[in-house]
Amino acid sequence: MIPISRPLLGPEEEAAVLAVLRSGKLAQGEEVERLEQGFAELCGVRHAVAVTSGTTALFLALLAHEIGPDDEVITTPFSFVATANSILMTGARPVFVDIDEDCFNLNVRQIEAAITPRTRAIMPVHLYGHPAEMDAIMVIARRNGLAVIEDAAQAVGARYRGRPTGNFSTACFSLYATKNITSGEGGMITTDDDAIAEKLRLLRNHGSRVRYYHECLGYNCRMTDLHAAIGRVQLGKCEAFNARRIANAQLLNQLITHPQVIKPQVRPGIHHVFHQYTVRILGDRDAAAQQLAAAGVGTAIFYPLTIPNQPIYRELGYQATTPVADRVSTEILALPVHPGLTPDEVHQIARAVNALQIEAPLAQAV
Ligand SMILES: *Cc1c(COP(=O)(O)O)cnc(C)c1O
Repeated sequence: MIPISRPLLGPEEEAAVLAVLRSGKLAQGEEVERLEQGFAELCGVRHAVAVTSGTTALFLALLAHEIGPDDEVITTPFSFVATANSILMTGARPVFVDIDEDCFNLNVRQIEAAITPRTRAIMPVHLYGHPAEMDAIMVIARRNGLAVIEDAAQAVGARYRGRPTGNFSTACFSLYATKNITSGEGGMITTDDDAIAEKLRLLRNHGSRVRYYHECLGYNCRMTDLHAAIGRVQLGKCEAFNARRIANAQLLNQLITHPQVIKPQVRPGIHHVFHQYTVRILGDRDAAAQQLAAAGVGTAIFYPLTIPNQPIYRELGYQATTPVADRVSTEILALPVHPGLTPDEVHQIARAVNALQIEAPLAQAV
């Protein structure tokens, strides 16, 4: 079976981890600093702050922007649940705005109608590695006095009109094992704002600047040097890994010709890094996934339920108010696109897709 993702770890990562182990200094130290410098350079900003995961990155970024109870944050219903959960963790309320179906990101024409006196921030997600419409989002934020916190967990190395993700305001990355680059687990926050960066460094370390003196309520969200060593080597391979993802996506685009399979769209001016290559199946998506599995092609659904439809959000009183996201979540299917694929495997994936026998969706069969 061709897996949907596979981390590519080599002798460089092994040597880097071994060097940290042998140094006896495992906790946050020089390796974390080097990884932070690398991220700041990649994103073209002054500060990068490493933390334990993409989720803690989002949580601390919101806290650093002083978002909490009674505040609202506008975000997308079509993402991994951690995006909205990070807002709930602060006591604030996520407000969901629907998506555009061509590239699955926030529909910027619907954002302003969702702004209330309580709105404090917009949290766009660069889903699957395709940056959201950042120019429009920054204009809306400025006009309404809102913070912007990018969820760039899936978009390290992507660019919007020449600007790297992580360059617009405060942004959060994930270094989880299936992401474009990994440290095992890990997260990174980038910002050009000195005060936000300082707050983030306090929040990740018990609110402490001087050891055993605590200025504010903080947490322990420090990354270890063991993780940072892996992440630092992976960051050096980021451009090459992304280039292979893009080449695999281009080959899939060329080879897939099935009329009921809509291939991923890329908007003008976008450098898409294909964290996922997600097609839309016009018909019985789950049957298509089964046929692909039988042909040796692993697939995945990111994500089968939109966030407001998740049981925890239903319990909180959220309703289905984002019809495009709800429909798209029944159509999408991610095909393998990771840099470990061989050209033969890419051809095998496309052949299996072109051979799909797709039944019309139930709603249209009536
Ligand atoms: C992976 C991911 C996260 C969470 O990152 P972790 O490192 O797994 O905590 C948040 N948002 C999105 C869009 C993600 O893909």
